[in-house]
Parts: sequence; structure tokens; C-alpha cells
Amino acid sequence: MATSSTITLASGAARTLPPADGIAGSNCGTPGVWRFTAAAPGPHVVLTALIHGNEVCGAHALWRVVQSPPTLARGTLTIVCCNLEAYARLDDATKGDRRFVDEDMNRVWGRLDGAPGAEATYEVRRARTIWPWVQDADVLLDLHSMTSPAPALGLVGLADKNVAFARVVGFPALLVRDAGHAAGLRLIDRQPFGDAAAAPAAMLVECGQHFSEEAFEAAEVAVTRTIAAVLDTNALPPAQPQSVIEVTEAVTIRTPAFKFEREWPNMAVVPQAGTLLAHDGDQQVRTPYDNTYLVMPASSHHIKPGLTAVRLGRLVSSA
Ligand SMILES: [Zn+2]
Repeated sequence: MATSSTITLASGAARTLPPADGIAGSNCGTPGVWRFTAAAPGPHVVLTALIHGNEVCGAHALWRVVQSPPTLARGTLTIVCCNLEAYARLDDATKGDRRFVDEDMNRVWGRLDGAPGAEATYEVRRARTIWPWVQDADVLLDLHSMTSPAPALGLVGLADKNVAFARVVGFPALLVRDAGHAAGLRLIDRQPFGDAAAAPAAMLVECGQHFSEEAFEAAEVAVTRTIAAVLDTNALPPAQPQSVIEVTEAVTIRTPAFKFEREWPNMAVVPQAGTLLAHDGDQQVRTPYDNTYLVMPASSHHIKPGLTAVRLGRLVSSA
């Protein structure tokens, strides 16, 4: 019998997580991967979680699907739990520090091709193992959570097809169009998902704050609605209205002296153009326009040259 670990949520409540050895199981030969196929042909849906080992809400939602697979009206459903090793090392005392083993797995997706080197990190090796199960998805839903409290955000890259997919799912209420990170390619940005001319679509859902009740709930809703919308013929509950925020600028940290002027809440809206947000060495970072959204400002222990400090966005469409 697999052992489950129990963690303490931000609210103080206890939550039992899926067992690490269960998450490393499979019904198709690759650890952490399950595939379910309906009798009738249809789209291929891939659901991924644990690209970051401490973002457990997605694993919780996917584990429920693995435990009691839905009856699919059509198509194929693939479930992938990504960073098995980081998750296996997670316990209640260290849960915030189990994001990765060697490097951020959501920056490696442009480095999988060519001959695998012996020097490859755990995350690159694991990404190579996973990719064959993901590459022919028609739609990809990638589940994450965030450092600071915020409503669930659907990151949809730059392609219109991903906004259309998010509208089919009808969740979350806030969609963010962004170009990713200077530090490396995310899974949702890799071809074919990041290619506006190719049909396959992807959305990364930041479900809420790490280890919050809200994140667990949002992950459940995202998974349930995606399966129902694409692989089921039953009516989907009405969608929430969805607004789109377009990121116009990712502020990449240039110097070790980068410092925010204050602790900005995630998704804060700064009313005035020209408001000072941060200093980076002798440079100032200011809001480019009125009502600038501050998308996922980095916490102080993620301030390192080359990383993204914050993304700046504006509301381009509201439902
Ligand atoms: Zn993440």
C-alpha cells in the first residue's frame, strides 16, 4: 500500500496528497503517465501537472482522474505527472523548496532535441521521456500554482487558438496572453502549441497560491471542465465570463541589485502610467500605461539576473 503524505495548507487545514509511488505509476509503461482511450475516435487531450514539484494542486486533481477514470464519449485522454523526483522529495517541512531537482522544468522545452548528453539535468532527461506522450495532443492543459495569492490565471501564450481553447473550457475567468520567459521555453510554448499556424492548442493554468484551498479547487474545475468540454458529450455547466490581459513587457532582472519599490500584490492594477515599480542597478522600472496589471511579481528569493521579475499587462477584452 502506497503511503500518502499530509501537508498543512496556507489556511492551516491538513490535506492528504497523492502518494509519490502512486504518482510514479503508469498504465502504459512510462512512469507518471496514464492513457485512456474511448471506443469512438476523437481529440487527444493531455493534462500535465507537477512540472514544478511543489505545485501539488494539479497532481491532486489528476490523481483523482487516475483513481476513477471518466467514461469518455470519444477520443484519448493522457495524464502526465512531470517532476516525479522533486515530488518524491516533498514533505510538510520542506514543501516550498521542492520546485525542481536540478533546474526549472518549465524552461527546458527548447533544449530536448539532438543527442542526449550525459550531462543533461534530471529535468531535461525527464522532459525527453515525457515529450512523446504530449507531442501529438490536440489540446494541452498544464496545471501550476503561484507564490502569492491571486485568482486562477490561464496563460495562453500569443496565439489566438489558445484563447479559443480557453473559451471552450470556460475557465479561468482571467486569461493572460504572454510571450513566455527569456530564460527558456515553457511546455505551452514548444511547437506545435506555440506555433500560431498549427492547430494544437495549450493553456497553462496558474490555479492560485501554492498549497491553498483555492488552488486545489481551481485545479479540479480546470480538469473537469476540460475533459467535459473536449471528450464528453454531456452539457457543460455555463462558463464564467473571461477577460483577457495582454502582457506587453516581461521585466527581466539585469543585476543582483534588482529591488521592487514595495511588495506588489499579484495581479495588482497600478492606476497611473510612470509609477515607479522597481530599481535594477541604476535603471528604474516604471508602469508603461494607466491601469497596468502586475502579473506574477517574483518573490524576493527568486530575484536573480536573467529571471523574470514581473510581467506588465493591460486589459484588452472583457466578457
Ligand atoms: Zn509552475
